[in-house]
Amino acid sequence: MIKAISLISGGLDSTLATKVIMDQGVEVIAANFISPFCRCDHKVGCRHEAKFVSDELKIPLKMVNIAKDFLDVLKSPKHGYGSNMNPCIDCRILMLKKAKELMDELGASFLITGEVLGQRPMSQRRDAMRRIEKDAGVLGLVLRPLSAKLLEPTIPEEKGWVDRQKLLSISGRGRRPQMKMAEDYHIKDYPCPAGGCLLTDPAFSKRIKDLIGHNELTMDDVKLLNHGRHFRIADSAKLIVGRNEHDNEMLRGLRKEGDIFLTPTEEEPGASALGRGEGFDDTQARLLAAKLVSRYFDCKCAIAKIVVLYKGKEEVVEVAPFSEEETRKYLV
Ligand code: SF4
Repeated sequence: MIKAISLISGGLDSTLATKVIMDQGVEVIAANFISPFCRCDHKVGCRHEAKFVSDELKIPLKMVNIAKDFLDVLKSPKHGYGSNMNPCIDCRILMLKKAKELMDELGASFLITGEVLGQRPMSQRRDAMRRIEKDAGVLGLVLRPLSAKLLEPTIPEEKGWVDRQKLLSISGRGRRPQMKMAEDYHIKDYPCPAGGCLLTDPAFSKRIKDLIGHNELTMDDVKLLNHGRHFRIADSAKLIVGRNEHDNEMLRGLRKEGDIFLTPTEEEPGASALGRGEGFDDTQARLLAAKLVSRYFDCKCAIAKIVVLYKGKEEVVEVAPFSEEETRKYLV
């Protein structure tokens, strides 16, 4: 039996594309590439959605963590960024390269994606799709069942492994045909309808740009980006201030050796903050961090007390909180 690898994001389109090919008697193995920038509606993340989908389809799932390679691509993508910090073309090349490795390892003959012609401006144009395939070394081997009839026949179609007549001709950003297909297939719960990537978010992209600009794009630093307000307090130092109890707890949990951590005293509740980088040996840097975080204390008092934890020592400092205007100067 012919085998194919389907790139499953956990969204509806890749689920439908997989189902269309399974219905033609092809053995399909799902592959999910774990990116640090997945943004699903569900807090659990795309990898759980991909597991849900593969369980529903009753097919095996291979999860591949591409975080490290992704960060390398993100630092300087050969084909540039989209409207935000989304390097879509290089990202797709990376995923198809990884999928090709899986294809070879598992003895599969082609790849399936849920891409729809014209749905995304950067990577889902006809010319971009071709360039991506070429650069990934899989030219003609990527079948996009939802748009196949609008595209050049692929190797699996030419070889007769799949029947082109049973493929579809969906294009554009509308979702109606996919919704109708979902109904026909009785697919009711597709938790991540159009997929999602934090790199298309302008505010998140600003933070990524700041990390790249300061040569700090590491997984440890990326993990902080989803929490709190971010302040650049020196070329080599950042402060992240929690917006709520959840952020405060997350920041506490993400502390690394060498980080500074600031918390309110028991009498004056408020935000906690994590500082990372160089320069906190200097008292002035610690006071600057204290002035910033105390801006977000509940008491709005003229002088705030803050507990500063740094290099195993604990000190309580008293500072005049920054005004909103002073705070804004450091905001990323
Ligand atoms: S939106 Fe994000 S995950 Fe999707 S192709 Fe672009 S960079 Fe990759």
